[in-house]
Amino acid sequence: METSAQLDKFDLLKTFFGYDKFLPNQEEIINNVLAQKDTIAIMPTGGGKSLCFQLPALALEGTAIVISPLIALMKDQVDALKANGISAAFFNSSQPYDKQQQILKELQDESLKLLYVAPESLPQVNFILKSIKISLFAVDEAHCISSWGHDFRPAYTQLNSLKKQFSQVPIIALTATADRPTRVDIATQLTIPDAKTFIASFDRPNLYLDVRPGQNRNKQILNFLAKRGTQSGIIYCLSKKSTEKLAATLNSKGHKAQAYHAGLTSEERSNIQDNFLNDQTPIIVATIAFGMGIDKSNVRWVIHYNLPKNIEGYYQEIGRSGRDGLNAHTLLFYSLADVIMLRKFAEGTETETYQLAKLERMQQYAEALSCRRKALLGYFGEHITEDCGNCDICKTPPKYFDGTLIAQKICSAVARLQEQEALGMVLDVLRGAQNAQVFDKGYQNIKTFGAAKDISWRDLQQYAIQLLNQGVLQIYFHENGRLLLTPLAKKVLFEEKKVRLANIIQEVEKVKTER
Ligand code: ADP
Ligand code: ZN
Repeated sequence: METSAQLDKFDLLKTFFGYDKFLPNQEEIINNVLAQKDTIAIMPTGGGKSLCFQLPALALEGTAIVISPLIALMKDQVDALKANGISAAFFNSSQPYDKQQQILKELQDESLKLLYVAPESLPQVNFILKSIKISLFAVDEAHCISSWGHDFRPAYTQLNSLKKQFSQVPIIALTATADRPTRVDIATQLTIPDAKTFIASFDRPNLYLDVRPGQNRNKQILNFLAKRGTQSGIIYCLSKKSTEKLAATLNSKGHKAQAYHAGLTSEERSNIQDNFLNDQTPIIVATIAFGMGIDKSNVRWVIHYNLPKNIEGYYQEIGRSGRDGLNAHTLLFYSLADVIMLRKFAEGTETETYQLAKLERMQQYAEALSCRRKALLGYFGEHITEDCGNCDICKTPPKYFDGTLIAQKICSAVARLQEQEALGMVLDVLRGAQNAQVFDKGYQNIKTFGAAKDISWRDLQQYAIQLLNQGVLQIYFHENGRLLLTPLAKKVLFEEKKVRLANIIQEVEKVKTER
């Protein structure tokens, strides 16, 4: 039997948003918010986060305050709500004084169901918030509150007083950044220790994951396009110049392509976007500036001309294809020259160590010799046991040997080091290295010291990377990049789960020559 609250919920979904059913996790999240409980919602881009606070905003009494760092997107979101007959507004520093005053008045009059506010502008509306009924606070892109990440926004730190000031108002924090440290940090910073956390699956099974060496890229792309007619696709490049060069090359070969980057005027950019959305221009060659807020369902392929600087970016960009659920092909070109260039970009920045660690993980993904989806999902903390059958490695697997014993040794060393050490030290311990760092910490006395001394450093390192890619190990990026055991590692250690490894040196050579 349905309660009236459930009916209301579905009514709202249909009437205001035009949908018949919820996407995965939306309903559970909405129920929690409607029960006025604090919530942390982790969903991949395109997973439908907005509805999780927009619908409760309509169902609950009062005004919902949405804190969002993306000033550029606020207008679009508010326009979309208004078009659906919902009274909404946004407030940020880009607006003229008169407009701001008008919105403050609407807020005071309690005539808004939703108000989007930039975190920097929150102090300007705060005095009104104290005098009106607030239905909920939604903290969008909540990972910006974590000082570990590169998206850190200082203005987000003031949100730590929301709960104190408005103890009766439920908070919903939303993000697509799933790693556990970030999640914990969000709960701590927002002082919502009892928040219920919902994590939607990041799996997009319809995306084919393909990685190829970045040689003769233009030729490879032309071959790729030859089979794809006028399908829509996006090619991501690192620089403005290369987007323009590649677009010109494609056009000269009879493909309709346009370059898109931050150097164009906003008018030019919105023209290009429109052409892409209406299928006038099937191919966009873009820097990563392209795609934020783009919602085109039939993008059939995404190519990364250059290596992305981290897996989060890569995942978000490939995620712009196949939103309709039909098959899409994603192709990543991998070259060491790109790695070197990206390293240079990171050097000397405030978060250099963190960025370099993320880049290294990206590189390891590109070099993976086991199912790519396993690697990708493992990175986001989702551990699948079966290979996907829809990636290049699953299609053409390398030769594997039974690496269970090696895997057990590596996992056991990580465990004996209390998950406190990064890869280098773990390998030193396994190989019985006699160096100062090892002796300083007394690691020569632990049980796995020297347990893999018969394996060369390079092989052992590669095996450990394979365990990372198989989701058996994980890197804790927020500290020294120490290695952590995942639930799969526990199966390897205690349940005799078999692990397959590939003989790297041979395979890498094979990959270089054949793929
Ligand atoms: P996110 O913020 O997680 O990236 P959005 O909130 O922008 O995702 O939603 C992504 C897309 O999914 C939007 O086009 C949105 O209209 C659509 N969407 C959201 N909820 C539903 C639903 N229940 N059924 C169908 N489409 C939905
Ligand atoms: Zn696979």
